[in-house]
Amino acid sequence: ALSQRLREQQPARLGTDTLVYAVASGKGGVGKSSVAANLAVALARTGKRVGLLDADVWGYSVPQLFGVRRSPVALKGLMLPVDAHGVRLMSVGFLVGDGEPVVWRGPMLHKALEQFLTDVHWGELDVLLVDLPPGTGDVTLSLLELLPRAALLAVTTPQVSAQTVATRAGRMAADLRMPLAGVVENMSTLVCECCGERTALFGSGGGQRLADDLGTELLARIPLDAALRHAGDTGVPVVAGAPDAPSALALSDLAARL
Ligand code: ADP
Repeated sequence: ALSQRLREQQPARLGTDTLVYAVASGKGGVGKSSVAANLAVALARTGKRVGLLDADVWGYSVPQLFGVRRSPVALKGLMLPVDAHGVRLMSVGFLVGDGEPVVWRGPMLHKALEQFLTDVHWGELDVLLVDLPPGTGDVTLSLLELLPRAALLAVTTPQVSAQTVATRAGRMAADLRMPLAGVVENMSTLVCECCGERTALFGSGGGQRLADDLGTELLARIPLDAALRHAGDTGVPVVAGAPDAPSALALSDLAARL
């Protein structure tokens, strides 16, 4: 029902059939970018045509997570997204030098984000994932305005403090009349590499509480997994590099539910 509703509203320049998910979190460090990147790869592995727009302006990490050092090429005034691990990528990080900070002010940022949607040749996409900056700031609001069709996918950890700030992001979505796709709880349990035992390092229940608060579903619980961290550091998303790792299995299940 949700996918039907999303298809009925139409964003600029994207095909009518493209489902748009905005991946959001209340604060940084909960694994929002890792979830967005791996979800994109997992969806691509099911045969879908997937784009990932890294709009986490100050904390962009998609080039690193995908091991991409190339810049997008321009063709007839449009930028071509960079293909990696089966996903079409565009990142703020591609537009600034290696390791450079983004020092644009509000109006320039807004313009850049707009161009990501209008001047990028995404081609036919089944799904576009947007990795939002954490919180409910200007960039998030600009983007959501530009993507009236997006559904919010809220990422939190099981910890109460993370869940309460994530609730604010979720409420923002409700205020903007955005549909909620659901909640992803990341860093749910720590899986012991030796014996497989699971420990609730960051407590438990935050994902379910957030889903209840927002009146939506808890779609996935992704364990804390050294394989995911290692994959991110080496530029091969865990879903592609170690598809049997506990986090990769949970992320593939999540892809199947969207
Ligand atoms: P955010 O986008 O919310 O700031 P990141 O995706 O950058 O968070 O993740 C923050 C850090 O936590 C990164 O070093 C990442 O590798 C690590 N991380 C995220 N999720 C997991 C997980 N499930 N297991 C292990 N490490 C994780």
